[in-house]
Amino acid sequence: MTDVPFRPERKCVGCGKLRDRAELARVVIGADGAFELDTALARGGRGAYVCRNPECLKRAVLRGHLARALRVPPGPDREAVLARLGEALK
Ligand SMILES: [Zn+2]
Repeated sequence: MTDVPFRPERKCVGCGKLRDRAELARVVIGADGAFELDTALARGGRGAYVCRNPECLKRAVLRGHLARALRVPPGPDREAVLARLGEALK
């Protein structure tokens, strides 16, 4: 057992690695049912975490991991979702 302060860790839905929560981007389902980036990590409800890099985001969206984590259908517009979230992540 190590005596380090508690650091909340979350798993990236892109690469599956555990990371410090602060290093990840949080994605939630917005009021309109679309994926939204929760930049302040403060939104309520179910959230999925992904590393702040385009590769993980791409994998999470295109392979449907993000949708599965948020328990919604992946939908036909994954490329559009990826582009929108990618912009928001910058
Ligand atoms: Zn990742």
